Amino acid sequence: MLVKDRLFIGGQWVAPSSAESIEVHNAGTGEVMGRIPAGGEKDIAAAVAAARAAFDSWSSKEPSFRAECLEKISAGLKARADELARTIAQEVGMPLKMASRIQAGLPIANFANFAKIVSQFKFEERVGNSVVVREPVGVVGAITPWNYPLHQITLKVAPALAAGCTVVLKPSEVAPFNAFVLAEVIEAAGLPGGVFNLVTGLGAGAGEALVRHPGVDMISFTGSTRAGKRISELAAQSVKRVALELGGKSASVILDDADLAAAVKGTVNGCYLNSGQTCTALTRMLVPEKLYPEAAALAAEAARGFTVGDPLAESTKLGPLTSKAQLERVRSYIRKGVQEGAELLAGGDAPPAGAPSGGYYVQPTVFGKVRNDMTIAQEEIFGPVLSIIPYRDEEEAIRIANDTIYGLAGAVWSKDDARAQRVARRIRAGQVDVNGGAFNMNAPFGGFKQSGHGREAGVYGLEEFLEYKSLQLKG
Ligand code: NAD
Repeated sequence: MLVKDRLFIGGQWVAPSSAESIEVHNAGTGEVMGRIPAGGEKDIAAAVAAARAAFDSWSSKEPSFRAECLEKISAGLKARADELARTIAQEVGMPLKMASRIQAGLPIANFANFAKIVSQFKFEERVGNSVVVREPVGVVGAITPWNYPLHQITLKVAPALAAGCTVVLKPSEVAPFNAFVLAEVIEAAGLPGGVFNLVTGLGAGAGEALVRHPGVDMISFTGSTRAGKRISELAAQSVKRVALELGGKSASVILDDADLAAAVKGTVNGCYLNSGQTCTALTRMLVPEKLYPEAAALAAEAARGFTVGDPLAESTKLGPLTSKAQLERVRSYIRKGVQEGAELLAGGDAPPAGAPSGGYYVQPTVFGKVRNDMTIAQEEIFGPVLSIIPYRDEEEAIRIANDTIYGLAGAVWSKDDARAQRVARRIRAGQVDVNGGAFNMNAPFGGFKQSGHGREAGVYGLEEFLEYKSLQLKG
């Protein structure tokens, strides 16, 4: 049992202002795996005061000093990589081998990468008679979700610290233990007190208190569109800068000249990654009408290849969902798809045969003959549920791909690379994979439309935490 009863504020592990705690559940068994403090307004006030007090000194350090600190954090996380992967596999439900590569591996790589980026970054340039200076935005409030918990934290904390900002982190209450490991690593790396602060709690409690606090200059949020809207409203009261990374309903457009088998396999993998709990999940597969029967058969077969099981077991390809609420939500979407007349090609809302009892397991599911106005094609399900939508011609495919309130990601498949790129450029989304192009940690990540605004990762992610200042010179 992991029991955390302290918050990390001003470089110290301090008792929270109240004795209230939040239970954290193991996704694979449904059992309580630990508890964390339910921090509130007073804890947030203490953390913001500590971050403000640390700002002047931290922001005036040489970027090379801050880069060294980030390298130490990367090394500290690396030394605890196995523990991190195991903890996140249990909090979130991602199979261990994959958790090790993605959930632990990406944060380690990103802390090191931001060290490199800030070392090379030009903080000022001359424009006519002005010197244009990039300065840290100030105290950053970071609020993060549970699906890639440490990765999402890292994409905020690493560039914010690199830029010279100080941070108050309010991680997800559903998968919070990895954030405690990060705080311990930061403490061991010897960062000055107050530069990084950790306050756990609920969104409506600690989360809203952080957004409201007048001492916070910027909120960087990743999570649901619903919470993003609320945060924008609250932050407007003090005219805070807000960056939002929200949900998605991404289309994978398979053109008529694509390698169909590879395209369907790539799309199913892109949909089911982390049991579909991925904001960029390719949840709508658009296929030419004449290729529909073959595409449907390939997708159903691919889905059946996803062995459901305990995230810690070697053979597992699809772990459980993260929480009971998530399980109920996904099952109700599957029922909705059937009610609205989509064709159930694989899976369904019944618990998967042979899955361990108690955990939040759902069957890998494929719906065929989906219309884009159905609920399962419009709303983010956040589970392993693929919708196949037939289309008549390329123009219609593009129209369907863009017929969504979201604009986070997408994919295009064609043997003609120029054609694929042409279609990819017409998709209104922040990141479009062309013929299965690999994930690039230096490319900007973020959304159009209700998927949010702002960009994370690479140099774009560093710039997110900088303000411009111009000094007009006389001569
Ligand atoms: P969520 O919005 O419920 O919670 C995210 C975080 O916000 C948590 O820390 C929560 O405590 C906090 N929060 C909730 N309400 C708040 C409020 N009113 N004020 C302040 N803080 C509040 O989302 P979730 O269920 O943890 O994550 C799933 C969602 O996140 C999905 O919609 C997914 O698409 C999205 N997501 C987006 C990205 C991206 O980069 N675009 C990445 C991962 C997840």
